[in-house]
Amino acid sequence: MITDGFGSPRPGGIRHGGVDIMYLRAPTDTFKPRTANGSWLSVMPDNTAALAASDGVVWSAMKTPRGFAVVIDHGPTKAATFYTHLEQLFVKETANAKAGERVRAGQEIGIIGADPLDQGRLKHMHFELWLGGPSDAVDPSYVMPGWEVVNDPRRATLARNVSLTYRPIGARGEPYPNWIRELDGKSGVYVIREPASDGTVETVYVGESHTNRLYDTLTRHFQTWRRWKGFWKGQYGEGHDPGLTYDRGRVEVAVRVTSPSVAIDEEARLITRLRPRDNLLGQPAEDDVPF
Ligand SMILES: [Zn+2]
Repeated sequence: MITDGFGSPRPGGIRHGGVDIMYLRAPTDTFKPRTANGSWLSVMPDNTAALAASDGVVWSAMKTPRGFAVVIDHGPTKAATFYTHLEQLFVKETANAKAGERVRAGQEIGIIGADPLDQGRLKHMHFELWLGGPSDAVDPSYVMPGWEVVNDPRRATLARNVSLTYRPIGARGEPYPNWIRELDGKSGVYVIREPASDGTVETVYVGESHTNRLYDTLTRHFQTWRRWKGFWKGQYGEGHDPGLTYDRGRVEVAVRVTSPSVAIDEEARLITRLRPRDNLLGQPAEDDVPF
């Protein structure tokens, strides 16, 4: 959420040149208000990564009195993005793009901290969108709702007990529900489970895509005719078991969208935890089973 918007008045007649970003406080958040990690309305956990908004080259990354600051040049467009109050940098310190470091959208560029000059010391990220330089900052809030939302790659692996939401996906021949179609172009993990007539539920398969093909990889499990056309060829490299197809009308699916960089780890973790019936790879060795 934006906790302080673009253009809001500052002492001395200055206006806020960007937006301050935090998480909306959830009922499960334990951070106390008026600490570094939260206000009454918003929170910012320790060790939260700042992610590059789009592909680009690091124009500058340096320590400033207000924390580490990064500028990413998104050429050939005129756009650049600015991030500050970082307490740690994951990109090389540089000026005038001398390091030539490229970053991808969603890549971790640092850790979000607090503004050392701000009395409240509330952790948040100050973010600016420039269309031609620092003097041409525009309100980024108009484009931000269209951005893809990804988990902080570090928190996805820490959130071990985040519950998965299982939903039916419709019968064969029906269009897929929107939440399935929205996986097009994304990376992440999926779990397929099969409720039995006796009321028990069995996890049958856990899979992932780290190449933004989550939709294709998942729906392939429900396209029985493709089994015979070599569609699973080449999938061994991604650790998939070939040819596992399920009756759409009988299964439920849970999905977690992640950044490409954590999809494989998240899949491995879910296989270990859920012990899906049909995954050949990644099952814990017998030795690991505590009796
Ligand atoms: Zn700010």
